[in-house]
Amino acid sequence: MRALIVEDEPQVAAFIAKELQAHGLVPDVAVDGLQGMEKAATGHYDIILLDWMLPKRNGIDVCRAIRVKDPHVPILMLTALDGVEEQVKGLGAGADDYLAKPFDVGVLVARVNALLRRASGRGTGKLLVCADLVLDNEAKRVERAGQEIRLTAREFALLHYLLERKGKVTHRSDILDHVWDTSFETESNVVDVYINMLRRKVDKPFGRPLIHTVTGMGYIIRDDAP
Ligand code: CA
Repeated sequence: MRALIVEDEPQVAAFIAKELQAHGLVPDVAVDGLQGMEKAATGHYDIILLDWMLPKRNGIDVCRAIRVKDPHVPILMLTALDGVEEQVKGLGAGADDYLAKPFDVGVLVARVNALLRRASGRGTGKLLVCADLVLDNEAKRVERAGQEIRLTAREFALLHYLLERKGKVTHRSDILDHVWDTSFETESNVVDVYINMLRRKVDKPFGRPLIHTVTGMGYIIRDDAP
């Protein structure tokens, strides 16, 4: 698998290249927008990581130019701009995903893997993502830091519901309504039991918890990374 990194900061480019190489990809670097367009036009790459702020041509122009020639190559935009407007612009120009700098390297690798897998046809459709946790609903597959996590159908449904509501507090009663069809008694602790099982698989082995308890209310999944 060949990856093109379009990045004008040599240290950032070298860091990304090293990480991708460690995960079995063959990286190549373009140092400005123009070189990025030229290299991408060869069609030699399985994925393109594209910085937003670039000399000669900006990331949006490069993204549009690539899409004219190649509608399918996965493009991951990397940028220090974190506004909704910029995200919409990036995705509107044909990017598949978007990562704000500074990013966690585990998150970068997880997104790259998810895009490559989607491009190869194993699993399509929307990915639900929180940090380095990726849920592919079509493929019914969950990964964290590139490692597959095996969940039961109920655990999968619970994680899916929390991820759909990422960053929002979800009450136990809402979880019961959406993940369990039958109506349990209100004092039932089934939700807490399943949350604990989910945590053992999704959070504990990875050190950084994503599922948080909001005392007296319910649960929230969010990325607390600085
Ligand atoms: Ca830059």
